[in-house]
Amino acid sequence: MIPMIELPQVSKVFPNQETGQHVQALQDVSLRIEENEFLCLLGPSGCGKSTLLNLVAGFERPTAGRVLFAGKPVENPGPDRGVVFQDPTLFPWLTVEQNVAFGLRNLKLSPVECRRIARRFLTSVGLDSFAGARAHQLSGGMKQRVALARVLALDPRALLMDEPFGALDAQTRDRLQDELLRIWQNHRKTVLFVTHNVEEAVYLADRVAVLAPAPDSIGADVPIAIPRPRDRFSAELREAIMALMGVLADLPCCVLPSQIEPAGETILLREGG
Ligand code: ADP
Ligand code: MG
Repeated sequence: MIPMIELPQVSKVFPNQETGQHVQALQDVSLRIEENEFLCLLGPSGCGKSTLLNLVAGFERPTAGRVLFAGKPVENPGPDRGVVFQDPTLFPWLTVEQNVAFGLRNLKLSPVECRRIARRFLTSVGLDSFAGARAHQLSGGMKQRVALARVLALDPRALLMDEPFGALDAQTRDRLQDELLRIWQNHRKTVLFVTHNVEEAVYLADRVAVLAPAPDSIGADVPIAIPRPRDRFSAELREAIMALMGVLADLPCCVLPSQIEPAGETILLREGG
């Protein structure tokens, strides 16, 4: 079967016009995501997670290698890939419903139909009673739900989510994770979900791919076989989290900053193999 998302040996270099130095954001990274799979891309800050997502979204082009979506090269952003960022940007002068309907304006639908679709997806994220509210009246979690409804309204084949719950408090994040899983199960989408939170990755994913900074590429690819619905407090889930942390600990490039104390020792460890 053709995978929904496929990156065979992708590299991305960002030139810096001012210094003349180049940043190798990704080097020979290969990743494959099947249709309807929920993949979490996990890795420390700066390892290229957003760069990879932006390549799939069509916001950036690879320096080497190819980015394929449903078997076709990605050349531009498109409605088949819905992107959700950490900080949702809503139009402050539009109502919540108008924000969700905004993306539908190119689809040649009647205004009544646009409203119907917007309402449907606001209901699905639990915000139907806020249809007439404006962005400044919403909490961070509510804004993120509007952003999700706006993307879902376009019925994309894949959701590309870049640390979407990273700025939310723990309780709101847990609730939105559950809503996302419910939506994913009802609407069947392929999901590429970027996070640096191990617990979040294990709770959500069918599979966790660990991205290490260039030139290390994908450091580990870990299936999470726990049946759904999952219980975030179950022993099974805790064990999977511990197992993944064990995998991370064996990747020297993924040492978290808090664990690098003092820094000199880590460098010695690395050099010594
Ligand atoms: P992550 O999302 O894992 O934190 P990024 O993909 O944002 O990592 O960044 C990977 C590396 O590429 C970083 O060193 C970052 O500074 C660099 N980078 C990302 N985008 C650009 C850009 N547009 N121009 C120059 N460098 C960039
Ligand atoms: Mg990022």
